[in-house]
Amino acid sequence: MHEIQQIDAEKYLMASAPRPSVLMAKGSGSWLWDTHDNRYLDFLQGWAVNTLGHCPVEIQQVLETQGRQLLTPSPAFHNKPQLQLAQLLCETTGAHQATFSVTGAEANEVAVKLARKWGQINRRGAFTILTATNSFHGRTLAMMAATGKSGFSQIFPPSVSGFHHVPYGDTSALTASIDDSTVAVMVEPIQGEAGVVVPPEGYLSELREVCDRYGLLLIADEIQTGCGRTGHFLAQSEDSMIADITTLGKGLGAGVPVSATLCSARAASFDPGDQGGTHCGNPLAMAVAHRVVQCVVAPGFLSTVREMGRALEEELIYLSAKTEGTVRGRGLMRALQLREPIAPAWTHRAREQERLLVNSPRETVLRLVPSLRVSASEIADGARRLAASYPKAS
Ligand SMILES: *Cc1c(COP(=O)(O)O)cnc(C)c1O
Repeated sequence: MHEIQQIDAEKYLMASAPRPSVLMAKGSGSWLWDTHDNRYLDFLQGWAVNTLGHCPVEIQQVLETQGRQLLTPSPAFHNKPQLQLAQLLCETTGAHQATFSVTGAEANEVAVKLARKWGQINRRGAFTILTATNSFHGRTLAMMAATGKSGFSQIFPPSVSGFHHVPYGDTSALTASIDDSTVAVMVEPIQGEAGVVVPPEGYLSELREVCDRYGLLLIADEIQTGCGRTGHFLAQSEDSMIADITTLGKGLGAGVPVSATLCSARAASFDPGDQGGTHCGNPLAMAVAHRVVQCVVAPGFLSTVREMGRALEEELIYLSAKTEGTVRGRGLMRALQLREPIAPAWTHRAREQERLLVNSPRETVLRLVPSLRVSASEIADGARRLAASYPKAS
């Protein structure tokens, strides 16, 4: 077989996201190289996945050690890394129990299954879950129905039933939608794919009150916001919200596919046989995630994320004055909201001319999610590259 140089993506790959014609070859920290040895400053980091940057030494070590020791004994047996990770996540977040999957969408499916089971036991079979407009919860059939992106649930009819969308950030609209079939509310503490949309102050704690008043479960989808991304281990804690069920994905494995569903004692309702999967709790993934969480909760890590987040925010505010934009986000999850739909062009120019990787979840939104280990000089460098690639500069 000859080496793949030329990209002929349509030949063997089914259609997926539109992609530029570069092949990414290696990464280190905030930097990514393509096969032509072009070096990019990566403020995308696998879509907010590479918590510790590209190929962190700690993870290389875990992969080597665990890779030598045990890849999987099958889910029919316990393994030590899984027990260690479950304990560490519960101790870190105050959750009662954890269970593991591979992707974020799967972790959310588990959350929905937990809520429906709980509804069978506690709310006479109530099953409807209220989710927010413009939310994103994944691409399995059920998560496409849960996702509040318009048209998303109608691509592969029939859509999975049991989801109802309500406006994000509006507790009264949500309350008005509650009926006897409602069992839970599922929400992103900050909407990621919608363009880093931060809800109004107090929204999350109000949701907690509403759920308590009506006897519903509260599910926090922290797949993008969790694991330190916003400067706290969980974004919900900043708004003093404690969800009954929390999902983690993306950043949990720092580049290795793994996700988790955490629950309170109240929500714990699974019996043996309700949930599982061939790769769920895989020791290699568990050992990696355990190391990632250890790194994120180590003294000084999260305060540095907050500090670097402020530095990035300041750079973006400075830039927004020239580009007529506004800045949103928390920690190292930031976006520039633009007046005109120039984000795709800006993203393209940033990559092609300045070798800076950012993305545009909406045509008017630029999103920046650098490594949680990004340095102050890399942030300044990124801001310089972003300014230089502004498509409307004269
Ligand atoms: C990415 C994402 C998901 C889906 O995760 P996958 O690993 O792609 O299945 C779900 N919810 C949120 C908030 C996300 O950002």
